[in-house]
Amino acid sequence: MEIMIVQADPAKRKAKPKDESKLGFGRVLTDHMFTMSYHSSRGWYDPVVRPYEELRLDPAAMCLHYGQLIFEGMKAYRGKSGEIYLFRPTENIRRMNESARRLCMPTLDPELFLEGLKKLVLLEQDWIPKSSGASLYIRPTMIATEAALGVHPADAYLFFIIVGPVGAYYPEGFSPTKIYVVEEYVRSAPGGIGYCKAAGNYAASLMASAMAIEKGYTQVLWLDAVHRKFVEEVGTSNIFFVIDGELITPPLGGTILPGVTRDSVLQIARSWGLNVSERPLSMEEILTAFNNGSLQEAFASGTAAIVSPIGQVCYQNREYAINEGRTGSLTERLYEEILRIQYGEKEDPFGWRLRIA
Ligand SMILES: *Cc1c(COP(=O)(O)O)cnc(C)c1O
Repeated sequence: MEIMIVQADPAKRKAKPKDESKLGFGRVLTDHMFTMSYHSSRGWYDPVVRPYEELRLDPAAMCLHYGQLIFEGMKAYRGKSGEIYLFRPTENIRRMNESARRLCMPTLDPELFLEGLKKLVLLEQDWIPKSSGASLYIRPTMIATEAALGVHPADAYLFFIIVGPVGAYYPEGFSPTKIYVVEEYVRSAPGGIGYCKAAGNYAASLMASAMAIEKGYTQVLWLDAVHRKFVEEVGTSNIFFVIDGELITPPLGGTILPGVTRDSVLQIARSWGLNVSERPLSMEEILTAFNNGSLQEAFASGTAAIVSPIGQVCYQNREYAINEGRTGSLTERLYEEILRIQYGEKEDPFGWRLRIA
C-alpha cells in the first residue's frame, strides 16, 4: 500500500518551542499525523501522513463506550551530527499487535506501521530536539470507530500516530523517587489485560496514584492481585531491585507490561556478567533484605525516563530508605549505557538502533 503525504499549510504551522529545557512531557504536538482506517470488509486502507487535526467521531463510536483503545510509547533520538534514530521499534510494533489481539482489534502489518512512522518522523524532523536527553515522543494509537451501542468487537477502527518533542527527564541530574506500596487497589489480575497498553489499565490506576501523591509520594508500587504480596510494577514502569548483588525483576506472566526498557536492562546486565533473575519477589523478602543490609538498589524502567532510581519505599506505614536515598551505581551505569546507545554515542552491540536519517 502506498502511503500518501499531504503537507500542512506552511502559514498554519505551529511555532516550535524555543527553550528545549522547558519542554516537559506530552504538551506539545507537531503539525502532522499518520492515520489509516480499517473495516472488517476491506482490511486496512488509506494510509496517509496529513495535517494534525481534531478527529471526527460519532458519539456512539465504540471506543468511547467499551474501551477498545490501545496505544504505544516510543521515541526518536537525534545524534550529535544530526542523525536520527529509533530504538527497537519492532518491539513496540509487536507489542501493539499483542494488545490488539487481546482486545479483539485488528493487527497491523509491521512493515506498513514502520513505514508510516518513519515518513511521519522524517517529515517532522525539525521538531526533534537537539539537546542531550530530549527527544521526539511517538504515540501510536488504535481506536474502535464503529457507531453502535451493544458490547461486541467493533468492525471499524482508526490507527493514528502523533508525535511531540519532550524534554530531558533529568535536566538537573537524578532525583530518587519515594514510592508507596498500595494494598487496597490492584492494576491488573491474572487473565486480565495487564500486559497490554490498553487505555482502561491507566484509568484503573488513577485512584491509587492520586492517593500516593496526596500522601507525598511520587508513584505507586503495585502488588500482585491474588496474594497482595509480590511486587509487580511501579506506576507505569517496570521495577528492579538489587539484593546481595542479584538484579531481580518480576517475571512476565500476563499481569505486567513487557517493557522494552525492561528487556534492554536485562540483556545489558546479562552481557555484563551480572547475576540476573526474573522471578517473583515478595515484600517480605525485600524487608528481610532491608533489615540485614543486603538491599542495595531499586529502580523503575520505562521509555520516558530510561531508569528512575527509587530512594524510599513506604509499606504498611513504615518508611524504608534504599541506598540511603541515593541513586545506586548500577542504576546510573545502566542509564548511561542505554542513553548512549539510543543517541548513537557508542557501539550498538545488540543491533537496537534503527538509523532513519
Ligand atoms: C509502557 C509501560 C511500561 C514500560 O514499557 P517501555 O516499553 O519500557 O516503555 C511499564 N509498565 C507499564 C504499565 C507501561 O504502560
